[in-house]
Amino acid sequence: MNSLSLSRRQFLSLTFATSIALTGCSAEPTPPPTYTAPRWPAGKRAAVAFTFDWETAMGGLVHSRSVGDPNVDEDYLVRAQRMREGVATTRAIFAPHGVRATYYATGYNFLMGNRERRRFMGDPTFTWATPEHGWLSERWATTPWFADDPFGTVESHPEWYFGDLVAPLLADGHEIQSHTFSHMHGGLADLTTWQQDLETWNSVAAERGVAPATSIAFPWSSSAGMSDNTWTLLEQAGITSVTRMSNQTQYSLWEHAANGLVLDPCCRWLPGREGRILAYPDFYLIPRHEELALEQLEQIIAVGGIIDLWAHTEEVVSAEQMATWQRIVTHVANDERLWVAPLGEITAWLQSVG
Ligand SMILES: [Zn+2]
Repeated sequence: MNSLSLSRRQFLSLTFATSIALTGCSAEPTPPPTYTAPRWPAGKRAAVAFTFDWETAMGGLVHSRSVGDPNVDEDYLVRAQRMREGVATTRAIFAPHGVRATYYATGYNFLMGNRERRRFMGDPTFTWATPEHGWLSERWATTPWFADDPFGTVESHPEWYFGDLVAPLLADGHEIQSHTFSHMHGGLADLTTWQQDLETWNSVAAERGVAPATSIAFPWSSSAGMSDNTWTLLEQAGITSVTRMSNQTQYSLWEHAANGLVLDPCCRWLPGREGRILAYPDFYLIPRHEELALEQLEQIIAVGGIIDLWAHTEEVVSAEQMATWQRIVTHVANDERLWVAPLGEITAWLQSVG
């Protein structure tokens, strides 16, 4: 720990204490979060989770936003097809090494179709999905969020439903966690919407034999603006870890070097949720970051930390991106200093050791 990061955390605790005071709760200043490098299992020196944001057309694709989406200008059905293909390519990369990953899924990922025309979450319209908040038009602020459901099946509309991909992922030992049911903006959605989203995700996941979520990857890194009451809801729903946290300066829990390296890459207790919700530092693993990823791995070993290496499944289908993932997965699997496990399992282990 250097003095810079300590002062950074003190600043953050002040920022969070202030935001709590503004929402009307009693505000004892939160003490700065502390971190002691854990004793990782089996003498390992650091931990790595490989994770994906994984969504059908009904996720952030048909609802695309110009902020926080690297492929916003591409056809959403083509992207959805790549999201599907990326499951096969990543499974093939992990299998020879016995590496198990975490796939953060939206709700339609669990459906085999929707011929019965089910409506979810009370068929909401998200009035906050405006150009002011980064959407490309007013459409999603005035149209029910699930309106474009083609009411087909995995055979007729494979871009919209990924229910057939769940069993193969589970059979390989991978973990499936929540990217929210609706792929909503975490900081803009109200309490009722969050409640419905958490319940609906767990209920459709159960239809495919997937356990209730304990971890969330925020769509569009949208943790900024989450209220204290919303965090309480997540905690009550059994969420013990979060990733894809906002990188806006006033909300970010980590400092980054100019080249993007996460400095002091360790889990942090979410301020105000010490001992209950862990936030993970993540690193976007794409070809131009490959060298930096190796440096990041040395850095986590140096501090006894952890990194969540992630991409969208849609990205790991090009030859170049697959080669990058292949090399990094091989590197991590062969480095005896590293413990690689699904993010939820790492969280459970960290909580068990305090
Ligand atoms: Zn997403």
